[in-house]
Amino acid sequence: MLKLTDPLNNLQGVGPYYEARLKNLGISSIKDLIFYFPFRYQDFTSIKSISELLPNEQTTTIATITKITSYKTFRKHMLLTNASAEDETGKIDIVWFNQPYIQKTLQIGTTVSLSGKTKQEGKKLIFQSPAYEVVTQDEDLDVHDLKHTGRLIPIYSETMGISSKLIRSLTTRVLKIFLDQIPEPLPESTRREYSLMDIQNALSQIHFPDSPELATEAKKRFIFEEMLLVQIHLLNIKQKLSRFKAPKIKKDVEAMKEFVAQLPFTLTDAQRKAIWEMMQDISTGSPMNRLMEGDVGSGKTVVALAIAYLLIKNDFQVAFMAPTEVLAKQHFKTIIKLLKSFDMKIACITGEGVIIKDGFLEGKVTKEYILESLKKGTPWLIVGTHALIQKSVSFGNLGLVIIDEQHRFGVEQRKKLLDEKQNKLVPHLLSMTATPIPRTLALAMYGDLELSILDEMPKGRQKIITKIVSKRSEDKMFEFIKEQIEGGRQAFVVCPRIEEQTETEKKNILSFDQILNYEVKAVKKEFEKIKKHFDPIEVAMLHGKMKPKEKDEIMKHFNSGKTKILVSTSVIEVGIDVPNASIMVIEGAEKFGLSQLHQFRGRVGRGEHQSYCFLFTESNGKITRERLKAMIEYSDGFKLAEIDLNLRGPGEFFGTNQSGFPDLAMQALSDTKTLAKIHEEAKNIIEKDISLKTWPNLLQRYKDFLEKFHME
Ligand code: ADP
Ligand code: MG
Repeated sequence: MLKLTDPLNNLQGVGPYYEARLKNLGISSIKDLIFYFPFRYQDFTSIKSISELLPNEQTTTIATITKITSYKTFRKHMLLTNASAEDETGKIDIVWFNQPYIQKTLQIGTTVSLSGKTKQEGKKLIFQSPAYEVVTQDEDLDVHDLKHTGRLIPIYSETMGISSKLIRSLTTRVLKIFLDQIPEPLPESTRREYSLMDIQNALSQIHFPDSPELATEAKKRFIFEEMLLVQIHLLNIKQKLSRFKAPKIKKDVEAMKEFVAQLPFTLTDAQRKAIWEMMQDISTGSPMNRLMEGDVGSGKTVVALAIAYLLIKNDFQVAFMAPTEVLAKQHFKTIIKLLKSFDMKIACITGEGVIIKDGFLEGKVTKEYILESLKKGTPWLIVGTHALIQKSVSFGNLGLVIIDEQHRFGVEQRKKLLDEKQNKLVPHLLSMTATPIPRTLALAMYGDLELSILDEMPKGRQKIITKIVSKRSEDKMFEFIKEQIEGGRQAFVVCPRIEEQTETEKKNILSFDQILNYEVKAVKKEFEKIKKHFDPIEVAMLHGKMKPKEKDEIMKHFNSGKTKILVSTSVIEVGIDVPNASIMVIEGAEKFGLSQLHQFRGRVGRGEHQSYCFLFTESNGKITRERLKAMIEYSDGFKLAEIDLNLRGPGEFFGTNQSGFPDLAMQALSDTKTLAKIHEEAKNIIEKDISLKTWPNLLQRYKDFLEKFHME
């Protein structure tokens, strides 16, 4: 007896070859297969007799094979199969390429359903490579029995060796056996309240829909379900968190005034408000969990430091974490400058060792010394990468964790922090990001977070001159860059990956490694070109496949001004601060989202020099132009994010495969009304029974969900 949880090789016809390839798509068990959904449907619903067929129309016709022969073409070594088929109204010729099995499957006399487009060839119509399937009972044929032709055909994400056709065949088989056994995870009341399709219907309609409307409705149900699980998960965490205690820091307005007074500038109102919100948070005794959003240059660091200052003053430790070592070191420099009038222990821990604030400790301090001191609970402000709290370092008295540029550090890592703690105090948490996530989205994705938004720039920021550059004016742009470099400035050139994928690759999901390879290829090509063009000016290249040490080295030379032009992939995106760089060239600008372009642009204009951003594009498309024009019109990251989100939808906006957020739930993000409803329903469910034991099927589904998305 087959079981739902059985591996796929228990199915007849699935051997190690298919098994391994299906795994690439994340399908290991029969259940996985059932829940592997198509991303679109091909419409083969129009069924016509042969005499009714028209050229270039997507249709299905059902006929009997009257002739079939195959031969290899002489020059191209291609296998050609020629066939004819007839119904009562006429005859049509068919041709297939390189499908050696067809001749066996479609013998003379076989009734076959053919779907695809026909082509006019002279006076005749001819079917070219149509989809086909053998029809068993030609009398009273039920089109609902068809799975590859004659209906809405599901198209799945494919991988090498696994076609949609194969997936369809397997899915049909397993649905036949298992559909009735799939438990309904949604509580009856939820389904009724929100008119959601039941699981049996939804599964058959999402794979083999009877109409586009039913497909949409089925999908709606699964989106609802997945987002509901996300919300239940977030509420659960919120519950758990509320039971933890964190350092209770009294609202020390005097100390804050002191801090603000020694800054070399006046805070913006937005910064003041954010500081006030956080002072409030940390005074309650419950753990703060706040996300601070603010455009590049809006001054997030100083806000974080204000709160860090209060914690340190109360003898707690603070960890300030950046995504890379380069950025950690950069932060360290800024931090010691901003806090120079305070007597604080500040250190930066890197892979190689430690750097400490000058003059604070006599002699050379070893990493071991600092680690020991941290273990004992001495109140340090420690700067480092995310590795800081994930391994290596043990904090005796950690009161605040600040995470720069990683809005996703929420759930998992936080739970890990908590799990290790048990009875001790847990640290407050402040994440910062320059990705301006609209409030509703942030809440749906991170649920239990509070939000501070720095929507105001410090005064006197220069405007970066932004221009769209086409191939025609490329030389002029290069000339300009040369002048700038001769005037002492530096330039960034960012390039997207080259999209020269093979036909098979186009249909498949690229692995992260493949994507990196494409990026590297693109950057190397551009690097060679720029180097040649600007000879003898010093040019360097930076990409994601380099070792951290190599990257560090390259950044060091660019920072010092030795390298004049840095050609890089999108790795440049986060936080690099080189005030002398005044030019940002973005190749293939149409390939990036507006938010990302805005991030790139934020790499220049950080010093005193007038800065420029050149959006290079060879595309003349109207939509592309419109989109890029928004970059000229707006310098506000929130505004650009809003436009971007509207134009591209949340999936593209966040980059689905990077966000780690479930795919279907992601789609729910574009509909804030439904989102609010789902949130309400999750609250209802949790309030009724937080253990979910009242709904055993829901509980099981929730457990599967956590496992699948590594949320536990
Ligand atoms: P981001 O939000 O991008 O992390 P930073 O915190 O790095 O921005 O701040 C950018 C620069 O602006 C820093 O040099 C910082 O010292 C400075 N800065 C921060 N706040 C203000 C302000 N209110 N007025 C003037 N300069 C400020
Ligand atoms: Mg920053």
